[in-house]
Amino acid sequence: MQVAPIPALDPDINDVRLATANVVNRYVIPNEERLAYSHPDRPRLAEEVRDAVKKAGLWAPHLPREYGGMGIGFMKHAYMNEILAWSPYSNALFGVVAPDSGNQTILIKYGTDEQKKRWLEPLIRGEIRSCFSMTEPDAPGSNPYAIQTRARRDGDEWVINGRKWFTSGARGAAFAIVMCRTEEADGAGGTREKMTQIIVPTDTPGFNIVRTVPVWGHDSNHCEIVYDNVRVPLTNQLGRTGTGHQAAQDRLGAGRVFHCMNCVGQMWRAFDLMVRRSIDREVHGGRLETKQFIQGFIADSYIDIQAARLMTIHTAEVIDRGGDSRTDISAIKIFVPAALERVVDRAIQIHGAMGVSGDTPLAGMYTGARTLRIADGPDEVHRIVIAKNVLKRYHDGMSWDFGV
Ligand SMILES: Cc1cc2nc3c(=O)[nH]c(=O)nc-3n(C[C@H](O)[C@H](O)[C@H](O)COP(=O)(O)OP(=O)(O)OC[C@H]3O[C@@H](n4cnc5c(N)ncnc54)[C@H](O)[C@@H]3O)c2cc1C
Repeated sequence: MQVAPIPALDPDINDVRLATANVVNRYVIPNEERLAYSHPDRPRLAEEVRDAVKKAGLWAPHLPREYGGMGIGFMKHAYMNEILAWSPYSNALFGVVAPDSGNQTILIKYGTDEQKKRWLEPLIRGEIRSCFSMTEPDAPGSNPYAIQTRARRDGDEWVINGRKWFTSGARGAAFAIVMCRTEEADGAGGTREKMTQIIVPTDTPGFNIVRTVPVWGHDSNHCEIVYDNVRVPLTNQLGRTGTGHQAAQDRLGAGRVFHCMNCVGQMWRAFDLMVRRSIDREVHGGRLETKQFIQGFIADSYIDIQAARLMTIHTAEVIDRGGDSRTDISAIKIFVPAALERVVDRAIQIHGAMGVSGDTPLAGMYTGARTLRIADGPDEVHRIVIAKNVLKRYHDGMSWDFGV
């Protein structure tokens, strides 16, 4: 990957971006085959790369310094992500593993000292793993107020009953952060104040993983879990009772910019593979690069990447200056994964059979892009948000200003 400093950017951001590119170029991309999780060299090699990452001061960009992270703040992290995403292996090697990274951020913000000691610190040290359990098979995940899993107070304990699925990483996790209804729909408080996030150790009686849900035809660690009279102390709740939604929003808002910068990095890699392949591959009557169909793929992908990248950076800038970013966040959440899907689709087509093989990262990028259009709020829900915000301004006697 070739990255030069961006002239208009803060020098600190350029430094982080270039240092990240150095490590990814030198240690990650050339070793992708041996970094595959099934390869015997993986454990030793991953350790070496992690050491190099730590030496370069690039470990855990999402964590504050006092927790051993980079403490770099939002913009630097966003720009770092477009570089990290060049390889599907980078994130774990740089100390950012979902859903642990999101849970760490939530525990830092909402956790008590005791919760931090018991859950956050071993999670950061990599001694345990965690999961986030919100979506349910019998309620629409796209409606955050529809959750049915109920936590009832009994003395000094919460008693949790319900069924969740797509709890990523649950098998092998030490604890789940579980989104629970702590007040019925017609109970006290507004719609938003009826949910609470509760920490449930996975060895608690009644925490039953009933299956791992296959995804894209493959085994996965996205689990279906029955919570059957699971009892945990009241002190396991995160934040005040009824703040579950706010905590979930914290997880998603800025996180969507990180996901989108991640998509941009993947598109960039796919583009690079596409162009190189078009130069190298001889087909009937000449190299791929000489065919207008293929030139069209390259040009359309260039346009998709530029549009996706600039839109994401604009959104990051609005968030960074404390502006109202809700419409832009929804816009990138729709546009960027769809652009990624288009770019990767073209890259796969140019590679022929190799494109759907495991010999390039393209197949993984493709299913990932398609999945992203559902996870983290499906496209339709974000379209509704955009239209609602735009129409509200017009109803309030204003029009939309694209300049802010
Ligand atoms: C690989 C993967 C990993 C995941 N990991 C986790 C995890 O770790 N923890 C967790 O809690 N969840 C996780 N999820 C779940 C994810 O967050 C949900 O799938 C998502 O929120 C959508 O919810 P749903 O699947 O219930 O779809 P539904 O809410 O049933 O929506 C289905 C479809 O209906 C349409 N739709 C919805 N609302 C509207 C509307 N108002 N107007 C028009 N159309 C609409 C959309 O097309 C949508 O795709 C994961 C999902 C996947 C695929």
